[in-house]
Amino acid sequence: MIIGAGQAGESVAMGLRAGGYGGDILLVGEEPYLPYQRPPLSKKYLSGEWDRERLLLRPDDFWRRMEIEVVTGKAVTAVDAERRTVAIDGSTVGWSKLAFATGTEPRPMPDGFARLRAVYRLRTIDDVDRLRPDFQPGKRLLVIGGGYIGLETAAVAAMAGLDVTVIERASRILERVACSRTSDHFRALHQSKGVRLIENGAIASVSSQDGQLTGLTLADGESLAADLAVVGVGVLPRIDLAERAGLHCDNGIVVDLHGRASKEGIWAAGDCANFPFGGLQTRLESVQNAVDLAEIVADDMLGKTRDYKPVPWFWSDQYDTKLQIVGLNRSYDSVVAKRAERTFAHWYLRDGVAVAVDTINDGRTYMAARKLFEKGVKITAEDLARPDFDPVTLLRG
Ligand code: NAP
Repeated sequence: MIIGAGQAGESVAMGLRAGGYGGDILLVGEEPYLPYQRPPLSKKYLSGEWDRERLLLRPDDFWRRMEIEVVTGKAVTAVDAERRTVAIDGSTVGWSKLAFATGTEPRPMPDGFARLRAVYRLRTIDDVDRLRPDFQPGKRLLVIGGGYIGLETAAVAAMAGLDVTVIERASRILERVACSRTSDHFRALHQSKGVRLIENGAIASVSSQDGQLTGLTLADGESLAADLAVVGVGVLPRIDLAERAGLHCDNGIVVDLHGRASKEGIWAAGDCANFPFGGLQTRLESVQNAVDLAEIVADDMLGKTRDYKPVPWFWSDQYDTKLQIVGLNRSYDSVVAKRAERTFAHWYLRDGVAVAVDTINDGRTYMAARKLFEKGVKITAEDLARPDFDPVTLLRG
């Protein structure tokens, strides 16, 4: 039984079949769609370049061929960890092994936005479909939150001819995920496309007429008129069901190195799982983690126990610029910037050794860095100080 039919749920199911499991698999998802990719929602699906069909992780008949039962449009409402059952839409279904792949949900809207018309979130296909009729050239769009959702939406909107203002409450965009050099790069990029970015932006009040958003006022007194807003202010792990089932939760469902939760027979994978990494309990919001931890979980269910020791990676597309990140940049003490004519790499170091790198339009460095980190090769401050430093040469060496 797999709860959650997103990328992680799909990967657990696939991992079980790939590992030779021939028994029943039930994959249950609340949304009315077969498992689909979320990353394109704020990119090519929003821009209209991709249709809905293209988002699907697997075509319709694939699930039948794999004999995986996918239940869509239904929620698991309770889990009984002792009796080994779940409640789905009023019926009780038994399981022998259970994986939570419940992902995350948007943080509550900032004060004043909830229930107003022309205010949108961007997590699901339906969210984008609801937004689309309002997403028209010339409209004044406020983007609340300068993280990935906010900036990718701003990029697509600016290209589509909307008049875009991004409001980030932190001192800089991408503060949660990147160093100030990377923020600077994306700030300049958006500004060059005519997007206004307001950092340290505190919203004092939101205005509306007949239930429709009309604008907002900032704490410094400036008023901004708007036709619509997209809110991307971060997400929270979906743990309600797991907590009610008595699982240990703390910023996610706490699991061990094999993805096992605190009760026998239950695992968790993807954005909802909080696993040990580099000496700290860690929750990652990424496709890499959804796939890789799910495979660890599937293998562990089949008795092929492995430790989860990922090399995290992330990416973001904004205009024609690609940000690709390898590693986790928490607790870094310095950043070394390397640049060529059109490419940038910002290396994060802790105690003189690289722990992560942001690459901008530099797929070559990104791929080499991934392989170097996977092999455990140390990239030192001395390496990076050399004018002819090249991660590909280091990899070959
Ligand atoms: P995010 O990356 O956490 O960014 C949210 C940003 O909004 C943060 O900088 C946050 O600042 C700010 N914020 C919070 N409350 C605010 C307020 N009241 N006013 C203005 N700004 C506010 O989350 P997200 O962009 O919403 O993305 C949601 C999820 O989708 C994440 O898991 C993300 O990784 C994923 N996603 C990933 C990609 C990608 O990897 N390319 C693309 C789209 C979405 P504080 O930190 O101060 O709260």
